[in-house]
Amino acid sequence: MSARRGAGTTDPAGTCPGCGRTHPEPSTRVVVGGDALDALGAFLGERAWSHVVLVSDANTDEAIADTLARRLAGAGRRVTRCSFPHRTGLVADRAAAEQVRAGLRSGAPDGAVVAGSGTLNDITRYATHLESVGYVSVPTAASMDGYASSVAAMQFDGSKVTFPAHAPLGIFADLRVLAAAPAEMISWGLGDLLGKVTARFDWVLSEAVTGEAYCPVVADRVAGPLERCAQDPGRLLAGDEDGVSTLITGLVESGIAMAMMGSSRPASGAEHHFSHFWDLLAYRGLRPHAPHGLQVAHATAAVMRLQRDALGHLDGELRSPPGRRSADEDPWLGDLAVAEQSGLVRSEKAELWRSSAARWPPPAAALAEARRRLESVTDAFAPVSAALRALGVPASGPDPATSAGFHLDPPTLRATVRFANRMRSRFTVLDLLDSQGRIDSVAEGLTVRLG
Ligand SMILES: [Zn+2]
Ligand SMILES: [Zn+2]
Repeated sequence: MSARRGAGTTDPAGTCPGCGRTHPEPSTRVVVGGDALDALGAFLGERAWSHVVLVSDANTDEAIADTLARRLAGAGRRVTRCSFPHRTGLVADRAAAEQVRAGLRSGAPDGAVVAGSGTLNDITRYATHLESVGYVSVPTAASMDGYASSVAAMQFDGSKVTFPAHAPLGIFADLRVLAAAPAEMISWGLGDLLGKVTARFDWVLSEAVTGEAYCPVVADRVAGPLERCAQDPGRLLAGDEDGVSTLITGLVESGIAMAMMGSSRPASGAEHHFSHFWDLLAYRGLRPHAPHGLQVAHATAAVMRLQRDALGHLDGELRSPPGRRSADEDPWLGDLAVAEQSGLVRSEKAELWRSSAARWPPPAAALAEARRRLESVTDAFAPVSAALRALGVPASGPDPATSAGFHLDPPTLRATVRFANRMRSRFTVLDLLDSQGRIDSVAEGLTVRLG
């Protein structure tokens, strides 16, 4: 059994029934099922690909790439292997990209097939984009939401850089492979997907406060799988194929939703800003690196508390521009506190604020409508909290006493709430709380454990 579709959902006139706008039509073919490799073979046949570069590593060779290579060769295709010997520690850097590019430059292949998860997909997306050939993704773990992404997250000269690239032509997810992935990787994917609930809250909030374009149809593509995964996380973590199918669908849909909106807004809000902040601290040597999905899981528990608080004060005054610089942020943000990027974020937010404050508060009916819609987002908070607990995340947010493998002391948590909004110009609940002069008190409140 498999689920498959072309990605398009807009009506023939191209107008979205949810928002009345026109979204770019995502063209990635998505197949999730037990027969995904058959579908991949047929897809390559449709495109008349006779020679592919197969990108993999030592783990994914065992999981699927060796099998895939035999099947492709058995169907008469030439396969050039580009297998990294790594089991851990592969980095999406220039050297790795160069290795794939070298494979793409010899023998005129039609394109690449990548068997792997985050890092291998980033490397392949970047390399194929630079060599102007297409690629197809064969996921090996439902661990992250970047499969359908059109940007490549690379690490050049020790820092993370995101490059515009291109989305895969197709995603062919074999459920047996995904279900056999380490439970830890499934838990990261679930953490990343559960975080879309707070991302949605921030998106709806931003529409109410700043007038940002919001689309319920795009948001629902992510929310449906999220709710289903939240219902039975235990089964999912045990590697149940139906559960993993829903998870990979939600993660791929997140990528499609981003492509449709032209930004990561449908999949990323304050919970991701927390994670970016912790990445920055890790990069500065102030805390250990942790997997993205694990960070997002802990951040989501904390941000749900902030959003509930914000909902209770939605009609409050918007007093001051958010993101103003305070001297005590420097030790946390380091160079970023004075960097040009940070200045740009501040000025963009200040501008956003000027335009938003001028029309605040909205008429009572509009405010009531915004509150109603935000409340309906928070309906999913209870099942998400329960699912987070199944991942070992306490409902009250990061807790150094109880969070196995993830430590966050109260000063770091306080700084996260106060300064994570300095890193991106996107409006989130943190900016609302900041502008209402309540960020310090909610930061303090978050460090007090719930019973
Ligand atoms: Zn729409
Ligand atoms: Zn994420």
